[in-house]
Amino acid sequence: MYQKTIAELAAGLRAGEFSSEELTRSYLDRIEKHDEKLNSVLTLTASAALEAAKAADKRLKNGDATMLTGIPYLHKDIFCTLGVRTSCGSRMLDNFEAPYDATVTAQLKEAGAVMLGKTNMDEFAMGSSNETSFYGPVKNPWDLERVPGGSSGGSAAAVAARLAPLATGTDTGGSIRQPAALCGVTGIKPSYGRVSRFGMIAFASSLDQGGPFATCAEDAAHMLEAMSGFDRRDSTSIDRPVDHYAEGLAEDLCGLKIGLPREYFGEGLDARVGAAVEAAIEEYRTLGAEVREISLPNASLAVPAYYVVAPAECSSNLSRMDGVRFGYRCDNPRDLEDLYTRSRGEGFGAEVKRRIMVGTYALSAGYYDAYYLKAQQVRRMIRDDFVRAFEDVDIIMGPVTPTTAFKLGEKADDPVTMYLSDTYTIAVNLAGLPAMSVPAGMAEGLPVGLQLIGNYFDEGRLLNAAHKFQQVTDWHTRMPAGFE
Ligand code: GLN
Repeated sequence: MYQKTIAELAAGLRAGEFSSEELTRSYLDRIEKHDEKLNSVLTLTASAALEAAKAADKRLKNGDATMLTGIPYLHKDIFCTLGVRTSCGSRMLDNFEAPYDATVTAQLKEAGAVMLGKTNMDEFAMGSSNETSFYGPVKNPWDLERVPGGSSGGSAAAVAARLAPLATGTDTGGSIRQPAALCGVTGIKPSYGRVSRFGMIAFASSLDQGGPFATCAEDAAHMLEAMSGFDRRDSTSIDRPVDHYAEGLAEDLCGLKIGLPREYFGEGLDARVGAAVEAAIEEYRTLGAEVREISLPNASLAVPAYYVVAPAECSSNLSRMDGVRFGYRCDNPRDLEDLYTRSRGEGFGAEVKRRIMVGTYALSAGYYDAYYLKAQQVRRMIRDDFVRAFEDVDIIMGPVTPTTAFKLGEKADDPVTMYLSDTYTIAVNLAGLPAMSVPAGMAEGLPVGLQLIGNYFDEGRLLNAAHKFQQVTDWHTRMPAGFE
């Protein structure tokens, strides 16, 4: 069952070949059997999942089911889930049960999707390797000594090992695309404002976007359709109709104009990753696309600009975790000051503290103009590069990550080297564009991702291009050994 697409599962459910309850049980069994190796699931909600599956089975009989009715999924532990622990990978929220559902949680519930549990992640989504989680690192199913990427590493590893057919993620600087690439699954980060941020614990509010992980673009299209839409409770949500992504997959690629940014193929790109990406682009030529070189002249400024903007925003967002209203509180505080400092000191991990300090510094009186304002100006230049590029091309393609999955611990003590692993993903968030990662090859037994970057609200075109590629390649169907 775990090798079927969503459309196949939906057809099987409708034909009565299996029930959602059986399907849900089979995935719960897979999690029980395999997750010990991965540490990808933080909270398993087995009994609630079986209840939801039974309700889905009724709905399927009544004929008012959606594509996702009865389909199991795993939810990144950054999305609030009513009555279920929402830890965000942090000791700070280890005891936090959300009093409401995030909009995305509610949308998936309404569609009839069955939540199996919540996935491990970097603490407050800060990281590129899933090593900053309070609950320990997630392992890459392709090699248990390697990282799955971060911050949505639990979701990516779980889908790669087929512990769920679908999972959610969030992407502030690459956290859907980067783990999708390192684990060999398909992930899409939508345009800023497409998916509601209400109830999605905020890291850097002007960059954060939720999106799906799946094995293939077709499945991701179904999930993205269910997650998208206007939400008046998110002030940056865009009021614009949701495209029918799955229907758009049939479009032909003839004449599609692809741009390859020169800056994404230079120094720092591992040769084997580069070769796999180039072979994938050759496939697009065969499919009828026109490929040309383009330039994103400010590409090298993305990492430095992001590492001012994101920490600045997180220092403000995380100030609500003060030991008073919710989350971790230290034992026996002497006074209010002690309560704040010890609760935050004990509740947050090292990377989160580093970001809060960098961000607070950048926003301080006297430094604001030099750092935050300057970074915002650079951000506009980076956006303008993309706007210009999209005057001539339809999709920009390149690598997602400079290397394949690295070893656990390899970069953990060197934050700057870790930050540089986001070099090809971050500019997209600064510009607010949609982008995806598609399995495009293997290098020494490890997956390589191809990045597709689209113009604003052009998710449909990205999914279509990814789907066409997946019809003529089989990278997305490969599974890591040991997870049968
Ligand atoms: N790796 C980046 C960071 O650490 C991006 C994380 C993300 O997209 N949530 O900030």
